[in-house]
Order: sequence, then C-alpha cells, then structure tokens
Amino acid sequence: MTQEKRHVIVVGGGAAGMAAAIAAARSGCRVSLYEKNEKLGKKLFITGKGRCNITNACDTEDLFRAVVSNAKFLYSSFYGFTNQDMMALLEDAGLRLKTERGNRVFPASDKSSDVISTLERILKKEGVSIHLNSRVEGLWVEEGICRGILLEGRGTERYHGAGAESGTMDSGQSRYAGCRREAADSVIVATGGLSYPSTGSTGDGYRWAEELGHKITDLSPALVPFEAAEALEVKALQGLSLKNVEAAVYAGGKELYREFGEMLFTHFGVSGPILLSASSYGAKAIKKQPLRLVIDLKPALTAEQLDERILRDFGEAVNKQFKNALNHLYPAKMIPVIIARSGIHPDKKVNEITKEERRRLAEVTKGLEFTLTALRSFKEAIITQGGISVKQINPSTMESKQTAGLYFAGEVLDLDAVTGGYNLQIAWSTGWCAGTGTASRE
Ligand SMILES: Cc1cc2nc3c(=O)[nH]c(=O)nc-3n(C[C@H](O)[C@H](O)[C@H](O)COP(=O)(O)OP(=O)(O)OC[C@H]3O[C@@H](n4cnc5c(N)ncnc54)[C@H](O)[C@@H]3O)c2cc1C
Repeated sequence: MTQEKRHVIVVGGGAAGMAAAIAAARSGCRVSLYEKNEKLGKKLFITGKGRCNITNACDTEDLFRAVVSNAKFLYSSFYGFTNQDMMALLEDAGLRLKTERGNRVFPASDKSSDVISTLERILKKEGVSIHLNSRVEGLWVEEGICRGILLEGRGTERYHGAGAESGTMDSGQSRYAGCRREAADSVIVATGGLSYPSTGSTGDGYRWAEELGHKITDLSPALVPFEAAEALEVKALQGLSLKNVEAAVYAGGKELYREFGEMLFTHFGVSGPILLSASSYGAKAIKKQPLRLVIDLKPALTAEQLDERILRDFGEAVNKQFKNALNHLYPAKMIPVIIARSGIHPDKKVNEITKEERRRLAEVTKGLEFTLTALRSFKEAIITQGGISVKQINPSTMESKQTAGLYFAGEVLDLDAVTGGYNLQIAWSTGWCAGTGTASRE
C-alpha cells in the first residue's frame, strides 16, 4: 500500500515561499502554495530596478559578511542551499544568468519577469498546487501544534478559535471565527516584511507569530534613504550623484559605518548605494538621536596631497575669484555649498587666500558634514530590519520552537543584509531550508 504524501502549505508566493514550495515538493511532499495577489513574485518583479539581482556569486563565507542581523543563524541554511545552488536551480530550468560588477548575478535578459516565470515553471513541474487571489487569514493551531491555515469564506468546517491551547488571546482568535480551515501536516509562513506594502507584504506573518507567543524584534525600514537637517543645502544638491567618495556615519562619537562608493542627494536628504547600506547599520541608533554623516569628497588624497592639489589649481587661476577657481575640484552643484562651508568670501581673489583658509577648504572637502534626522518610511525601504526573533526558530529546519509544524522563511524573520543580491539569497536559502525541514519532520 502506498503511503499518503505529507501535505505542506506554504503561505506567500514571494522568493522565500517559492523556494520553500519547490524544496518541499522535491522532498516528496504534496505542496499547496497560497498567495493573496493575483500573481506570484510581485516584489521579485521590482527587484534590482526590474532586472532582479538574484544572488551574489561570492564565496559562501562572504555571504555571512554581508549579513547585518543574525548572520550565525544562517549557517545551516546558507551551506544547505548556497548561492551556487540557486544559480544551478534556475540554469537547469533554462534561465541564462550573468554576473556583473561586485559578483551581482542577474538574468542574462535583464528581466526579473524571466526569473519569476522560470520559478513558476519549476513549481508546476514539481506538481505544486498554486492558489492565487487567496489571502490566508490566520493559522490553525491546536495544542501547540500547527494543523493548517484559516481562509476567508464559507466552508463546511468552521473554526471557533483555539484560544488558550495555542497560547493566543481570545480577542485575537475571535477575528478568525467563521474562517474556513485547510488542513496540513506542516505550514511554512513566508509572508515577507513591511517594505513596499503595495507588493503584498503587509506584516501578516508578524501578527500570527506574535499571537502564538513569538517575540517580534523592533521593526524598522532599512536599505532606505535618510532625511537630512540641512534642508536648503540638500535641496540645492538634489540629483547630484557623487562617485568614489567615502561616507562615514556616527552616533555621537561612535562610528557605525564607513564605506567607499557612490551616493546621491535627494530633495529630502541622501541616498545611493553606500547610504542605503548605511541605513541598515544606523536604523536602531537614529531612533534615539540624529546621526552625523561625514563625506570625504577626495578619499584618495591625504590632507597634504589635497592642499598641493588646491595650490596647483589656484596657481592656474591666480587672478580669478575664489568662486570661479573650483570647477576642477568639485561638481558645479557642490561649489556654492563648499564656498559657504569654507567661510572664504566667494569674490576673494585666489592669490589672496591664506594658508589657514586653504586648510579650512581641505577640511571641508575631506569632512563635509550633514545631520541625518530620520529614515524614510517602509514605503521606500528595500527591506525590513527586525522580525520574528530567530532565537525561537530552529536554524536547521526553520521550524518554530514554540509551535510544532510551523515554519518561517524569508524577510518575516529577523534577518537582513546589505545590497548586492544577499537579501534574496537569505530568502532562497531559508525557504529551501524550511521546505526540506518540513519533509524531515518526525
Ligand atoms: C524595490 C526593491 C528592490 C529590491 N531589489 C533586490 C535585489 O535586487 N536583490 C536582492 O537580493 N533583494 C532585493 N530586494 C529585497 C528582496 O526583494 C526581499 O528581500 C525578498 O523579496 C524577500 O522575500 P520574501 O519571500 O521573504 O518576501 P516577499 O517577496 O515580500 O513575498 C511575500 C509574499 O507573501 C504574500 N503574502 C503576504 N501576506 C499574505 C497572506 N496573508 N496570504 C497570502 N499571501 C500573503 C505577499 O503578497 C508576497 O507575495 C528588493 C526589495 C525592494 C522593495
């Protein structure tokens, strides 16, 4: 007699949910995937500016270095399903990939939709039953065991609330009264975080986990631009992109972050790759106090080398006014800001500028300061920092230590990384780990 297949329900058809569904199906489970949107991978579609930076082709050890929160927790999942495994999964299904600067992996077509359709093809091939337009209302938990999910709508089997058995509040459970139950041997929650809620990630997983007694760590937008106090200056600099600069962010005297690369001024503050990454390291601190951003516009030069360079430029413009002698040193939009910060009169003749004034000019150039007052909102954030505490999750299977049969994967967990394909790799690896974890459950 053939044994009936174990039934796994995956909630959320994003990156983590799709990886989990494929892994569970390949491990021999019958898999049902529930997605509230009309299609799978709505967030995946907008990743990498529509090109989808699928992963980073670095050494596995370097993956850990890119993780901002709880890197150690990812040990089993990163090694269990590596960046190379993800690339192989897609390539074996016919998707051509390419690796760009910084080991960033993209589909050769530059179309995120090709990543989604490849994953859909694999899901179909593995026999996963996909339920679109199917919002999951809650989890069906009894006696500390997850029995399935709760769906909107009428059904013969009504849910009346598990109440104290699952350790949840009665008031919380009453919301689920009348929901239809769908049974499963295991449930994987991959509902994402709070960022870009228009793509479907509205924090449902956090609510369910909390109701079941999981701790949710402080949630904050991350990989998100900063607002700056110097409103007039940043407005004047709006649209200016600076390449090859070094930015450092401080909370009081403590350096939180330092990186070399590209940044951008916006109408409200600062953004661009190095500032987005900085937000992941400053997200907690900025809730307590404004942060100090220090930009070195000439990081390749020492203060002395910069002075020599300034002297050389001034030597070629001896009879010019200060304001007209700076265009080799700074982008045009930056010149009024530099002049104002240097305290040197703009009309002063270059040959009248003192050594002390030159020193101040060099100081401003290597230490252009702004006050960062806040992060922009979840609507503009690439990811959510914080989530379900990983202390209550088994890192080898992604199963909850609170509720048997309940698994979590992806951004819903307290895991995040810098830009470069690492956040998707977290989703793929934890999704895969949960999918295989359900199959290995006793
Ligand atoms: C603009 C932008 C660009 C990005 N670019 C990159 C990039 O290039 N590379 C990279 O590595 N990372 C990138 N990221 C981050 C990356 O997209 C996320 O880390 C990743 O999508 C998280 O995957 P997830 O499956 O956990 O969550 P999501 O992708 O958010 O998927 C969650 C899914 O669950 C569904 N859902 C939620 N609640 C329910 C419910 N109650 N019932 C049923 N379904 C539900 C949602 O509709 C959604 O489809 C980017 C993010 C943004 C916003």
